[in-house]
Amino acid sequence: MATTTLSGQEFNRMQFESLLKKRFFFTESFEIYRTAPNYKGDNRGLFDYGPPGCALLANIVNEWRRHFVIEENMLELDCTAITPEAVLKTSGHVDRFADWMCRDPVKGEFLRADHLIQTVLETRIASSRSASADSKTKLDESTVQKYEAILAKIDNYDGPELGKLIKALDIRNPNGNGEVEEPTAFNLMFKSTIGPRSAAPIFFRPETAQGQFLNFRKLLDYCQGSMPFASACIGKSYRNEISPRSGLLRVREFLMAEIEHFVDPESNKSHERFSEVEQIELPFLSKQTQLSGKTTIETASIGSAVRSKLVDNETLGYFLARIYLFLVKIGADPKKIRFRQHLENEMAHYACDCWDAELLTSYGWIECVGCADRSAFDLTVHSKATGTPLTVKENLPEPLEIVEWKASLERKLLGPRFRKDARKIEAAIEALDQDSLEKLAAELAEKTVVSVPTAETLADGKTMVELSGDICSIKKVTRIENTREYTPNVIEPSFGVGRILYSILEHVYWYRPQDTAREVLSLPILTAPTKLLLVPLSNHPIFKPVVKSLGSRLRSMGIANNLDASSVSIGKRYARNDELGTPLAITVDFDTMKDGSITLRDRDSTTQVRASEIQILEAVKSLVSGSETWKEISQRLPAFTGQAQGT
Ligand code: AMP
Repeated sequence: MATTTLSGQEFNRMQFESLLKKRFFFTESFEIYRTAPNYKGDNRGLFDYGPPGCALLANIVNEWRRHFVIEENMLELDCTAITPEAVLKTSGHVDRFADWMCRDPVKGEFLRADHLIQTVLETRIASSRSASADSKTKLDESTVQKYEAILAKIDNYDGPELGKLIKALDIRNPNGNGEVEEPTAFNLMFKSTIGPRSAAPIFFRPETAQGQFLNFRKLLDYCQGSMPFASACIGKSYRNEISPRSGLLRVREFLMAEIEHFVDPESNKSHERFSEVEQIELPFLSKQTQLSGKTTIETASIGSAVRSKLVDNETLGYFLARIYLFLVKIGADPKKIRFRQHLENEMAHYACDCWDAELLTSYGWIECVGCADRSAFDLTVHSKATGTPLTVKENLPEPLEIVEWKASLERKLLGPRFRKDARKIEAAIEALDQDSLEKLAAELAEKTVVSVPTAETLADGKTMVELSGDICSIKKVTRIENTREYTPNVIEPSFGVGRILYSILEHVYWYRPQDTAREVLSLPILTAPTKLLLVPLSNHPIFKPVVKSLGSRLRSMGIANNLDASSVSIGKRYARNDELGTPLAITVDFDTMKDGSITLRDRDSTTQVRASEIQILEAVKSLVSGSETWKEISQRLPAFTGQAQGT
């Protein structure tokens, strides 16, 4: 996809990715084994982060903790990735956490069905629009519109529908042009067994959420029963993607940061801090727009989006706004962010409304944060499966008088008359709702016997029992309720940290206009792997003591810095650090030896100021803390134009 750099230049992905590789932000795992004799492993979708990648990742995670966990008093957990099968069977992942894939019987390749259609249709449209299009590749306008409408709702098709599209549009494997088989469901979880007897199946978790749900009771106790509250968990998740691609964007092991915000379903899911964000304007791509085959983004304040019900409730809206602020703070370009609503079929099995924060990259719009309203699904199913109430009990402000129908069975007669069926009949009566009880009470007033359905088959082979008025009586009773018990609903913002990291690197990338090889990563100071480069003008021994003492002063201020005392020119050393995203550089030169002054360079403008060590270190401190901008610093400290600017 054609995209532009931070300064609006043409974006060259090959050049960008080779920069990330050269500066060791990340690399393919087990890379040297790829060429080892007889190696048959599949390294796709597995990556190791190098030093700047690790520092950037850590800075993103730290800010995530500050922005969400600390700001909102969330309760952080660290849960295991190894998960017993029973847990994920209950949550629905064993049966439903799957993607549709097609096999190419000739090549023996497996392709993700929706990605296959997407790739082929996008290629057809691009070929038709290219200047060299001939009568074979040229499409008429109605076909282009049809393809675009399919692409706009590609996430909404299920397996059989994808199969029909593949047949109808004659979609084939781009590698070899062979036909593919009908789509089949492929479960994305990695399975293993635990312990030496290998008897108990386990899965590597596909999300961190389940651990948070299972600890719900302990969390509720910890926060002394005060609702609403949120938990958070940062950890690795695992998904056996069918065909990992696009570098860090679709991998098989990745860092997730997830929040589970538990809320009373009868509170309208309102949020007490919503007024703090309601004016924030967000770019939305709604369900309706996508279903009409379009991808037009509409901007609206989150306040008006919630009022118009575009976004279901305040809590969901609050998180969308906070996610937006977080993404911008860590370096995302606001023009390359949108919130896309999930279509009905695309929504995960547990969700009732879902919005993705997507970032625009050279691979297209990428879902980086999912924000779903999971309703009471998870707590309800785990509670049923374990017999553990995962509910909130609240004292009512005033006792509540409840009038209701109640059935009672005369046990002295029930046992002797129905013997083994007695328990099944008790269960059948307990299962009756208020409407059924009211109906039966009216029937009992008129007839001597009533028929009641049973869930289990009785000794006579029937699933209906006749009960007489001497065994079963139904009356209206009044009782006083002092507490209310409910299962909370859950709003879940779920962040894929690797996707965010990669997309932000694309957003902050540009090159100096006079030379495309002079690349820069304009990461905000908050997330930059190293905040400051320390450089002596040359490797002359005279500079050593000053540089050493500066390094230790910066360390004591907690500012990550990097010394480069190599013999290459100062311009080259600046340029290397521009590629690493280092925002500041302090230079020590011969004038330092005379008057103690040092220079401070700004990565983006390459301008410098010169002042005493104390003044420069103070300036660094306020730049790193965000209390001053470079513009303010350069207005109050004298400009320096002496050495090479690294422009
Ligand atoms: P989901 O539970 O599918 O909504 O995923 C939550 C978040 O995890 C997404 O918004 C992505 O940022 C991230 N994610 C999901 N699958 C992958 C993957 N295969 N590789 C990298 N990140 C992923």
